[in-house]
Amino acid sequence: MVRAIVGANWGDEGKGKITDMLAKESDIIIRFQGGSNAGHTIINNYGKFALHLLPSGVFYDHTTSIIGNGVALNIPYLINEVQSLVERGVPKPKILVSDRAQILMPYHVLFDTYEEARLAGKSFGSTKSGIAPFYSDKYAKIGIQVSELFDDEVIREKIERVCEQKNILLEHLYHKPLLDVEELLETCRQYRDMIAPYVCDVSAYLHQAIAEGKTILLEGQLGSLKDPDHGIYPMVTSSSTLAAYGAIGAGIPPYEIKDIITVVKAYSSAVGAGAFVSEIFGDEADELRRRGGDGGEFGATTGRPRRMGWFDAVATRYGCRIQGATEVAFTVLDVLGYLDEIPVCVGYEVDGQVTKDFPTTVKLEKAKPVYTTLPGWKSDIRGIRKYEDLPENCRKYIEFVEQEIGVKITMVSNGPGRDDIIFR
Ligand code: GDP
Repeated sequence: MVRAIVGANWGDEGKGKITDMLAKESDIIIRFQGGSNAGHTIINNYGKFALHLLPSGVFYDHTTSIIGNGVALNIPYLINEVQSLVERGVPKPKILVSDRAQILMPYHVLFDTYEEARLAGKSFGSTKSGIAPFYSDKYAKIGIQVSELFDDEVIREKIERVCEQKNILLEHLYHKPLLDVEELLETCRQYRDMIAPYVCDVSAYLHQAIAEGKTILLEGQLGSLKDPDHGIYPMVTSSSTLAAYGAIGAGIPPYEIKDIITVVKAYSSAVGAGAFVSEIFGDEADELRRRGGDGGEFGATTGRPRRMGWFDAVATRYGCRIQGATEVAFTVLDVLGYLDEIPVCVGYEVDGQVTKDFPTTVKLEKAKPVYTTLPGWKSDIRGIRKYEDLPENCRKYIEFVEQEIGVKITMVSNGPGRDDIIFR
């Protein structure tokens, strides 16, 4: 049985927490896209962790953690992440890395940094982890597959081709030091030795696991609105954030994904540039940012303050639809307990007309939020474990959101910890 855990919004919905929680009952957890550019914050009995590349199921000793072929694999980063868990007392996780995953090279990080500097004020808000240059190379067919590290001739030819092309850009566009073939080959040899113990034909492994009836989780990074096709292009990430891509990025049949748990945040937050219709500013935003998440809404990778906004039902309904949500986990609801009343964005006004359909980016830039205001519940809901025990106005908020997005909310998260969850 394969379940996907994906985001309906702009990321940071709390997928890590939900994955960590559901991993308890699972055998295999897979990352299928993205790289070390976003982080998942997890709080459990070992402490508080910010994971970037490892799936959020690594904290149990019964789980196998997999880096699928769709991931941008930063090898030293992965090794360090494993090391840092072990140093903090987490049992050494069982990790498998797809032989078809491609490698994020040091020059991808350089190109990301150079391009952000070149674009200056017009940049896309990259985390400078090399993700966009990595995926560009993958589709330009000059990416490096894990399997290629193990063939000296193939890797030399690939690196020569890479240097030939990159050095033209480095010299003439960025005016930066050139890449050196021998130096990169040495890096590749080091990477090969670091990754060798983990390499696996992941798709074949999963084929077998599915046949044996194992419970498998696909953990998405970011959310629907950052998907390169269905999100707010071009202010998106470089790999698909959708559950459907889980089939490709892990190498399993699409029809095996039976359950798509779409994580929805009780208010909005986003990092990076791009239209954000229900965004709020000033003191109102500062207060929500300060109270938000666990210890404030600041990026897990960059520490950047997140942009804040009220719940956006238009974006979230679309986000759930494009994920193919079969159920919703509604998170960080506890954060809203301080508000007298809570605005919810229920429509967009574009060129004088109100719509509930999420538009393409060009129109989105012109959209103004249409709000409905709900009464707050003015109390701390952390620690509550039964839906009926939630304050009436809190249940009304949940039920209003459910009505608007059209997907059953099966889980309500009312705190960052593993046990802060209400099943409905
Ligand atoms: P992800 O990328 O979707 O995994 O989300 P992040 O981990 O980047 O951001 C979610 C933040 O909210 C983290 O700091 C979590 O510890 C925290 N969090 C998750 N669920 C809840 C919740 O229900 N309540 C509160 N207060 N914090 C939560």
